[in-house]
Amino acid sequence: MSEEVDLFVIGAGSGGVRAARISSGYGARVTIAEEYRVGGTCVIRGCVPKKLLVYASRFADEFEDAAGYGWTLSEPKFDWPTLIANKDREIARLEAAYTANLDRAKVKIVKSRAEIVDPHTVRLTATGETVRARHILISTGGASSLGKDIEGHEHVISSNEAFDLKELPRRILIQGGGYIAVEFAGIFNGLGSEVTLVYRGDNILRGFDEDVRNHLRTELEKRGIKIVTKAIVEGIEKVDRGLCVQLSDHEDIVVDKVMFATGRRPNVKGLGLEAAGVKLGRAGAIEVNEFSQTNVPHIYAVGDVTDRVALTPVAIREGHAFADTVFGNKPTRVDHTNVPTAVFSEPECGVIGLTEAQACEQLAKVDIYKTSFRPMKATLSGRDTRIFMKLVVDGHSDRVVGAHIVGPDAGEMIQLIGIAVRMKATKADFDATMAVHPTASEELVTMREKTSSHVRQAAE
Ligand code: NDP
Repeated sequence: MSEEVDLFVIGAGSGGVRAARISSGYGARVTIAEEYRVGGTCVIRGCVPKKLLVYASRFADEFEDAAGYGWTLSEPKFDWPTLIANKDREIARLEAAYTANLDRAKVKIVKSRAEIVDPHTVRLTATGETVRARHILISTGGASSLGKDIEGHEHVISSNEAFDLKELPRRILIQGGGYIAVEFAGIFNGLGSEVTLVYRGDNILRGFDEDVRNHLRTELEKRGIKIVTKAIVEGIEKVDRGLCVQLSDHEDIVVDKVMFATGRRPNVKGLGLEAAGVKLGRAGAIEVNEFSQTNVPHIYAVGDVTDRVALTPVAIREGHAFADTVFGNKPTRVDHTNVPTAVFSEPECGVIGLTEAQACEQLAKVDIYKTSFRPMKATLSGRDTRIFMKLVVDGHSDRVVGAHIVGPDAGEMIQLIGIAVRMKATKADFDATMAVHPTASEELVTMREKTSSHVRQAAE
């Protein structure tokens, strides 16, 4: 006889773990299956280890900048294996904490791949056992997509492998212009590698505000990252000196490692979705309604596997809303608009809301306030860097509908601006807020002069 549960969760990442714990708290009998490690992409090979590597990479600037402040340091030395071992220890601690939280919440964890065999039955591949479930939640996340099979594809690593390299590559080529590509470009550059970023379009971070894209690119180039645009990797050949990378319309480049950060795909392969009759939509993602419900009423999906907004806090919210809706008798929708986000490049970007271009498409009148200035810390250190800030304002209501920052702590700043933007704060509210001096963020409440104003011409 199969075991029976109220909820079977496939995938113990951010969304699945939250959904399991909250559902169990509502009295549901819950089992969660994980084929790899509890914690999922964010904890095991994403946001958390990435941020630790970002911290490591930023010490290089601190050591350099210290001289202008009167410090004399002996030659700093960096040891990659120490960093990776310490990072691994912290990830193991977090995995144990996630597991303990699930145990405390009385969620049964099974370390196995799970596949759906019929709309109410899941099979655990590790043991062959089946489990009958009143509800199934799919939270299997995404997986790196390395593009088409080019010559020498076997030499390509993704961010997964980048976290566990045996040694720091002296020269690395990263293909892609999104979050992961620019973040790892900063990490490797800060740790001392020679970095080449290859992007197929004309500028990095497509979809971000044009000024953010331009400012970040300039800053990355100032730091010595070589950015090759309008090019793709066509082939990779192992040579004596390393890996020779052939690029379209560009001369070959020899490096020690090649990493692709060319997007992520919803993880749906082999899950048995056909057996359950679950429909897939755009880019192979599971199609869900505003309550994360699939076309099969008792099967739900949250997080990256649904390809709505592929960010950890969004998956967590979706998981929580699922539990409230299905087991808490509180139907809850997740608002996917005005999601603040940060790119942990060097320097960081923090953004929320509309870009200038999006605002001009959507609103009749748009006012732009922007500024670029040298951070105070760079005065004595002599570092050649600038901060960029921009507010996008609805010219009729005076509401701030977008905020875009490139500079130190932009991620921390945008979290707080996010509250103001969600509360529909106006530019006048920003102006009425007293500045905190001397900070960089005070510029956000002291931008008096409009930089430009766009008025949409009425259609004839
Ligand atoms: P992104 O979608 O952000 O970027 C993918 C990049 O690869 C784009 O520049 C894209 O180009 C390029 N690309 C795609 N296919 C090809 C191809 N066949 N050949 C060459 N280039 C290609 O994905 P990432 O992998 O960087 O990250 C995945 C998602 O994970 C992010 O979108 C984000 O939602 C999340 N994430 C969030 C982080 C954070 O919050 N700080 C950190 C890391 C990831 P083009 O622009 O032309 O399409």
